Amino acid sequence: MVKVVKFGGSSVANAEQFKKVKSIVSAEKERKYIVTSACGKENKEDYKITDLLYIVHTHLKYKVSVDDIFDMIENKYYGIKNDLGLKLDLKKEFDIIKENMKEEEDVDYLVSRGEYLTALMLAEYLDAEFVDAKDVFKFNFDKTINMEKTNEALQKVINTDRKIVFPGFYGSMSDGKIRVMSRGGSDITGSILANLLNADLYENWTDVSGILVCDPRIVNDPHRIRTITYNELREMSYMGANVLHEDAVFPVVAKKIPINIKNTNNPENPGTMIMYSCEEVDKQTPPYPITGFTGKKGFTVITCIKNHISSEVGFLRKVLSIFEKFNISVESCPTSIDSISIVVENNKVKKVLYEILAELKDDLKCDDVHVYENLALIAVVGRAMANKKGMSGQIFAELGANDINIKTISQGSDEICIVVGVDGSEFEKAIQCIYKKFID
Ligand code: ASP
Repeated sequence: MVKVVKFGGSSVANAEQFKKVKSIVSAEKERKYIVTSACGKENKEDYKITDLLYIVHTHLKYKVSVDDIFDMIENKYYGIKNDLGLKLDLKKEFDIIKENMKEEEDVDYLVSRGEYLTALMLAEYLDAEFVDAKDVFKFNFDKTINMEKTNEALQKVINTDRKIVFPGFYGSMSDGKIRVMSRGGSDITGSILANLLNADLYENWTDVSGILVCDPRIVNDPHRIRTITYNELREMSYMGANVLHEDAVFPVVAKKIPINIKNTNNPENPGTMIMYSCEEVDKQTPPYPITGFTGKKGFTVITCIKNHISSEVGFLRKVLSIFEKFNISVESCPTSIDSISIVVENNKVKKVLYEILAELKDDLKCDDVHVYENLALIAVVGRAMANKKGMSGQIFAELGANDINIKTISQGSDEICIVVGVDGSEFEKAIQCIYKKFID
């Protein structure tokens, strides 16, 4: 059994957290391949090391002193080193970083140092090998990871009985220069490792006990999702649930490796299992019809009205091509006999709204065009909704019973996600009443 375990920033935010990581890692021999983020926040007021490093870079660029910020970074690492009694020569490491900072203003190198130093300390503390991500994770020119080259490099470093700690978030280009992934990229590092090592499980340790059914800022203490499919997770993430880096799903999906989201501060909690298929577990414990639901405010609906619009061949294409021309992605386009509505994100359409309206009216000869700027979309996701009669009816009835008007409706034919649009002012209320009716 092979496990890749990734610890997020809050799991390595101070010496206490390092101790928790040690007890988690040493509890199982299988937890052999460890990926770490840079030290994150100890509490709400604290700073993430990566954020500080980005600020250092901006200061360097504008020739502003970086001494204070650099002190904060050094203090964080020295604090952990001293508390844990580590031998790592931090002075030497910081001298190298400062030296390189003078020579080149390479932002990727600089911000990658958070993960690099954290992994060096964690490796020593766990009595594990440290493997520098730059020697293993190889980027293509388009910033995707070259899986073949990465695998080649990986096979050379894993021949050891000891556990291995990899810094997350970065790798290198073919010329050896360090490149970082997008923010939160350590999730991707873990996922790529899981893929290449054919892991049985990818454990992603964070500071929450898995994925919650809905947003805890809207519903007090919502239930945890025990099992969710990758597809359901994609739907939830797209509509705003952020648990895992979006791109971290693909490498593990390719090999159907399950991901377990776990809480470093509560390791006993089973967390959430993300799987390719939940068929087997569903046989034992039938799932709720709704796995989870999430949503976002800030959508605009542009409605084109024209008699017999639905029978005019090519009209929808012409409408959509206007949005394409302005490089705006369309969320959905509900239609009726005489109207087509286009749902888009406010901030994407704001600057070009009047140009679009002019084209719809003048070029496509719409009789009228309406704009509604305060739509919230709620995605209700559940693999058990497929083929279940009356599910959407019950959701709509519940919203109606709570005096919430539904403005748009859409459901894909795989039936795992129903998206309803309501007025932004009723967003929270809608989430609360769906929870009360279907989950609580
Ligand atoms: N430290 C990086 C960030 O804050 C990457 C990560 O934590 O996954 O974005």
